[in-house]
Amino acid sequence: MSDNIKKGGISVDTEHIFPIIKKWLYSEKDIFLREIVSNATDAVTKYKRLQSLGQIPSDECDYRITISLDKDAATISVSDNGIGMSAEELETYICNIALSGAFEFIQKYEGEGGSNGIIGHFGLGFYSAFMVSDQVEIYTKSFTDAPGVHWVCDESGSYSTEPCDKQDRGTTVIMHITEQEREYLDNARLSGMLRKYCAFMPVEIYFEDADAENSASSAPINDTTPLWQANPSDCTDEQYKDFYNKVFTDFKEPLFHIHINADYPLNFKGILYFPRISSEYESIEGQVKLYYNQVFVADNIKEVIPDYLLMLRGVLDCPELPLNVSRSYLQNNTYVTKVGAHIVKKVADKLNSLCNLEREQYERIWGDIRIFVEYASIRDRKFYERIKGSLLLSLTDGSCKTIDQYLEDAKQKHEGVIYYTTDKALQAQYISMYTAQGIEVAVFEKSLDAQFMSALESYRGDVKFQRIDSDVAEALKGDGEVTDQPALTELFRKVSGNAELGVTYQPLKDTSVPAMLNVSEESSRMAEMMRMYAMTSGNSPMQFPLEYSLVVNTGSSLYQKLQSLSESDSQKAELIARQIYALSVLAQRKLNASELKEFLADSFSLLELL
Ligand code: ADP
Repeated sequence: MSDNIKKGGISVDTEHIFPIIKKWLYSEKDIFLREIVSNATDAVTKYKRLQSLGQIPSDECDYRITISLDKDAATISVSDNGIGMSAEELETYICNIALSGAFEFIQKYEGEGGSNGIIGHFGLGFYSAFMVSDQVEIYTKSFTDAPGVHWVCDESGSYSTEPCDKQDRGTTVIMHITEQEREYLDNARLSGMLRKYCAFMPVEIYFEDADAENSASSAPINDTTPLWQANPSDCTDEQYKDFYNKVFTDFKEPLFHIHINADYPLNFKGILYFPRISSEYESIEGQVKLYYNQVFVADNIKEVIPDYLLMLRGVLDCPELPLNVSRSYLQNNTYVTKVGAHIVKKVADKLNSLCNLEREQYERIWGDIRIFVEYASIRDRKFYERIKGSLLLSLTDGSCKTIDQYLEDAKQKHEGVIYYTTDKALQAQYISMYTAQGIEVAVFEKSLDAQFMSALESYRGDVKFQRIDSDVAEALKGDGEVTDQPALTELFRKVSGNAELGVTYQPLKDTSVPAMLNVSEESSRMAEMMRMYAMTSGNSPMQFPLEYSLVVNTGSSLYQKLQSLSESDSQKAELIARQIYALSVLAQRKLNASELKEFLADSFSLLELL
């Protein structure tokens, strides 16, 4: 052993810290690679900074980090040509981990599972290497004249330092992987981890596998200048699409993107995409990746992005957050709250600008984004207030209108009421009666819509949604008295099998339709909500009883006929009443099996009468 060898044990509390690192970081072991590689990028960045400050002459070197896998030697090494460390620096930064109070801290948070926070809190990043290694070596040479240093530390925390003849500036960390963690000595496994954590790190990273044919990778595995760092005005649509395809391996084109470049005091950047969703039932869980200075931190940080925006996909780079963030830290952080609020505002601004400036495109994608916009509006009134002018109604003729425009146009005929259909095919008869009177009908066919309509009614106070088959619109009513016909009412109650059926008599402008079956607005909305609830909760749908009523069109000739028959031929009258009722049901919903059988039999009998 040479005289120059220095031995030691890492700081006072290491006997405690080492087992803790090993035990608590169990679930997040993969991050060791991120920690070691990001230290290497920091070392390069520091060196470059000294150069740019003029403290050292600039040299034209290629800054690079090399990750080497050697299965036979059971090692993973990370080399950089950054700032390096002198023996003293190594002693200060690596050996004397600033543990004052760390032990109590760790004890306090034991069981919270926030190991990420512990690592970051005390600059233990480097020591995460011990989660997977039983020995770690460092070869380092400072950018100064200080000689190279070789440091070896075993898993108990005892280390030795000696000079070495490393000539080139920088640091190599060699991790001797433990027997239990051999799975890391695998090309695919390491490549996957590098793709996840290091894809956008700011220094070129090369991966070498001693076993592979062409061991040294010729191209860096990362993109050192990710698109989010660029100035939005310098980026093309093509670039945004490519970036999306690459990061999310989704080859469907996103609907649109938002490039955020928030300056002081928020200071974060990112690109958010609206993915194309193929069906209502497809999982709409997106993926927003959080970065810290181009180092991957986590996916889907619910604390940063409100849950109703989690269907977005994208990247956020928040250099104001510590690299190792715990969830509890994020929950109570005002910076995080402000970032979230800023994102909400940007999303709303984007929707408004599309609606106002690129209306055609906005209408084209409305079908895809409306479920999200409706959901967000239900969840967050503030979001609704921002985008309320950009809420569109899809009309039965395929066109779109903003809600305000619809209400404005409807002013003369039906002030404050938005008529809608829940099924364009089933309710076709009603739709044509409405459109014949110049009333535009909006289409609300999704389960979420009932909730959205109720939210909007309570937000605005000046608008009411009404299903076209729920009540007869004033504009549909013809001239003449509304009469009561107790005998006919009895007859309809009899043929419908519903002794409580409400029957009203009303002349309609459209004289070809003898009767309409209406379903109360409240009961149909309740039924939709139940359906929605069953869908989201996985419970079997509970049938909500719908309240029906029959409107008999006293202006129709069939009504006249029925009335006279009821006095002269009660049998025929009953047959006709039953058929009228069945037809009104048919125009409103599907017949069930026994209704259909009866309907067909009645139809044949009626044909016999011809
Ligand atoms: P942190 O990175 O949070 O400061 P670490 O435990 O990861 O904590 O590293 C401690 C310190 O060791 C770093 O701040 C840095 O000064 C030094 N260090 C670690 N890795 C390197 C490296 N590759 N090159 C130069 N210095 C390094």
